[in-house]
Amino acid sequence: MTDLKSMTRDEIEKLILSWDYPAYRAKQISEWLQKGAVSFEEMKNLPKDIKEKLSKFCILSPITIEKKLVSMYDNTIKYLFSFFDRETVEAVVMEYKHGHTICISTQVGCKMGCTFCATGKGGFIRNLTASEMISQIECANKDLNIRISNIVLMGMGEPLDNYDNVMRFLKIVSSEDSLNIGMRHISLSTCGLVDRIYDLAEEKLGLTLSVSLHAPNDEIRNMTMPVNKKYPIDELLKACRYYIKETGRRVSFEYAMIDGVNDSDACALELANKLRGMICHVNLIPVNAVDGTHYKKPKTDRLNSFIQILSKKGITATVRRTLGSDINASCGQLRQQNL
Ligand code: SAH
Ligand code: SF4
Repeated sequence: MTDLKSMTRDEIEKLILSWDYPAYRAKQISEWLQKGAVSFEEMKNLPKDIKEKLSKFCILSPITIEKKLVSMYDNTIKYLFSFFDRETVEAVVMEYKHGHTICISTQVGCKMGCTFCATGKGGFIRNLTASEMISQIECANKDLNIRISNIVLMGMGEPLDNYDNVMRFLKIVSSEDSLNIGMRHISLSTCGLVDRIYDLAEEKLGLTLSVSLHAPNDEIRNMTMPVNKKYPIDELLKACRYYIKETGRRVSFEYAMIDGVNDSDACALELANKLRGMICHVNLIPVNAVDGTHYKKPKTDRLNSFIQILSKKGITATVRRTLGSDINASCGQLRQQNL
């Protein structure tokens, strides 16, 4: 069976032409997909025989809202979605002055095993298809009656470990026939799969790359992020420099501050030296306490001290606004509670 929502408009057209129907039928199908159609029956302007053929050879992979939590403070909404096999992932919709941003998942679980991360603790189950990524956005648009304008690939899973499906997703979601969300409105966050960062640089997509650094040296990073043993920090930063050179885009570094682990002034200084000369921005995030870990948020003075040390060395850093603090809006926690 062909998963229709994972196909580009050109691919749908080829399929329709191969069945000897006119090309405009592909346009009609795309429009239904764009509206978030969940069945072929709904596609009212298609003749019965096309709908029959579609049902015989294609699927519209289903998505269901299992849970929906709305923050009392800031309208942040967290979804737990399920797919055909009952596997679940999380997505979060945030409201900003410039519009709505959705943080979507790219895998069920994750192989990378970062010690502070709820998703990492649960292990890996499977990759999401391009259509399952798109469905998260369409479903939220429909449920909230909004048009989401920004996407961050920062939910569950490691996007660069599901490279082909993520590239397919990006191609579809940015096309005019689909959700038409431009690459400038898309960010991709990675724990640092160096080979794939080089591949991504070659794609010249113009999206924003976020790198989860969380440590200034191999010693600390090896403890919290096992991926660092394969791709040590200097190799990772070399790949980031290459990415900046090739794409002309600045890179964002995520740095989750953990009390007593990576939040000292010495860490800030070491980080500043490592990032010297790079066109980048550092996002500091007080770590979210996750069940089964002993990590705690840093003491309040640590964040300011870190920012000051970085900025003295010419590196801009800000503390990420925490949205949805009452609904566990950080990745993987809702799924963990629901298992
Ligand atoms: N796998 C990708 C994207 C998903 S994780 C990555 O690691 O970048 C999204 C972000 O949430 C990453 O920056 C990750 O390091 C961070 N994160 C995970 N658990 C966290 C926690 N308990 N507190 C703060 N940030 C966390
Ligand atoms: Fe995977 Fe990212 Fe969590 Fe690490 S932080 S385990 S890479 S989802």
